[in-house]
Amino acid sequence: MTDADVIVVGFGFAGGITAIEAADAGAKVILLEKMPDPGGISVCSAGGIRVAKDAKKALAYLEATNGGTTRTPVLKALADGMTDVGAYMKKLGEAVGAVVNERPAEGNYPFDGYDTFGFSNVDDIPGIDLAKTFPHVRGNPAGARMFKVVLDNVMKRPIDVRLGTPVRRLIRDGDKVVGVETDKGPLRAKRAVVLTTGGFEADHEMQTQFWQLKPVLSAAVRCNTGDGIRMAQSVGASLWHMWHFHGCYGFRHPDPAYPFGIRLKRLPDWLPGKGARGDVTMTWIVTNRSAKRFMNEYHPYLQDTGHRPMDHYEPEVQDYPHVPGFLIFDDEGRKRYPIGAPTYNDRSVSFGWSKDNLAEVDLGILKRADSVEEMARQMNTNATVLARTLADWNQYCAAGHDAEFGRPPSSMIPIAKPPFFWGEVWPVVSNTQGGPAHDERQRVLDAFGDPIPGLYAAGELGSVFGHLYMSGGNLAECFIGGRIAGREAANA
Ligand SMILES: Cc1cc2nc3c(=O)[nH]c(=O)nc-3n(C[C@H](O)[C@H](O)[C@H](O)COP(=O)(O)OP(=O)(O)OC[C@H]3O[C@@H](n4cnc5c(N)ncnc54)[C@H](O)[C@@H]3O)c2cc1C
Repeated sequence: MTDADVIVVGFGFAGGITAIEAADAGAKVILLEKMPDPGGISVCSAGGIRVAKDAKKALAYLEATNGGTTRTPVLKALADGMTDVGAYMKKLGEAVGAVVNERPAEGNYPFDGYDTFGFSNVDDIPGIDLAKTFPHVRGNPAGARMFKVVLDNVMKRPIDVRLGTPVRRLIRDGDKVVGVETDKGPLRAKRAVVLTTGGFEADHEMQTQFWQLKPVLSAAVRCNTGDGIRMAQSVGASLWHMWHFHGCYGFRHPDPAYPFGIRLKRLPDWLPGKGARGDVTMTWIVTNRSAKRFMNEYHPYLQDTGHRPMDHYEPEVQDYPHVPGFLIFDDEGRKRYPIGAPTYNDRSVSFGWSKDNLAEVDLGILKRADSVEEMARQMNTNATVLARTLADWNQYCAAGHDAEFGRPPSSMIPIAKPPFFWGEVWPVVSNTQGGPAHDERQRVLDAFGDPIPGLYAAGELGSVFGHLYMSGGNLAECFIGGRIAGREAANA
């Protein structure tokens, strides 16, 4: 006796699209979500799906950015999918009255094929007030709009959505996965189970075991605790890309009950060789605890690799000297824009960043100092070194050249006008990439590379990105991998 043809576990973009495709292929689908609200990280995202004009060029780029960590057929499936995912998204949008557009946008790095890419975005859903639709969400409205389109498309179909239903274990009959054990009892699938449970952004234990860098704060959700990874492991799945996560440096809220790291303002990405946009300034520098700069603070894709320079362990001192770092700006910088951008999908959290960055001084996220000496005292660091770091920085700004770390000249402004402001910054994970390895049909593979019967995965749970991420790549995977997984599972 079965409850459905296909059981999908986790309702973010990947779960929603998998369920839609499986239902459209004629399957009876149950979509299970642990939390009272669907959306996972997806609903907080920037809502950009990578699209491509030319699949061959897209594949060349993906091969280069994956540095040999992912087999070509898997990357080819993603590259091929990028050429029609924009049209697919348009169709989903039209079905629920949303305006979906594509626009060109180069890849993040000048690898072969970088010029073939673009983004698909939901630009408008007339009549929708996102604050009312998702009152528990703070993030980029474009991500919330895109999730609303997926949610409405799920609701239009005869998909049995069950919220507040965590899945704990897979059920097997022999080698085949035939169902799931939920908090509300077992459910059996005639054809397949698809895991779309996201990553391990909120799982301290997994991060401790797989990452050298610690601690790392989760940027947006508490729900993604690696459940799908453990379930897949328990039936013999091979894991890949566990070391790799997408994230930057960001602030920590002084209230220990606040569950998330706080992301920085999202500055535009820039292409190495072309330089950053002339109209974008970064108001801060970052030093280590010895008051010395240790990085180009404005990486080409800062929100992706910004945490990486912090991942430096010094055996001599048995510590991470760059964690926490000190982010420093002056009164001119303070006035330019809000420096933090909290994100979350969580009913118990409500926090926004002030326009002038002053409420955060009152909260203690930032500190104010009238002189460099006072700032050094607050930091418990050497005032002479800090003064030298700032003097060097201001000289680099005057010369238009960062002689130490090559930060894009157009982003550089002096830090000279008191009062000074500073805050501790920590590694922040926006999303993880690791999880069960899969093939081009989204079948989960065992430790010998053979498919585990009845088990599929999609989305950031076992992302294909194992070396250098591509902006919009995770959403592309959710939609392209979700489509493949849904169709395959329906016909398994
Ligand atoms: C601020 C921010 C901006 C981003 N912007 C972009 C962007 O513009 N483009 C891009 O490509 N990527 C972006 N990303 C990354 C991208 O959003 C995610 O990788 C992607 O949305 C993951 O989708 P998913 O469906 O795999 O997982 P999620 O959306 O996280 O969904 C997983 C779901 O599974 C549920 N779940 C977990 N365990 C269980 C269980 N045991 N039982 C049942 N349900 C369970 C969770 O509650 C959750 O709802 C961004 C990330 C962040 C944080």
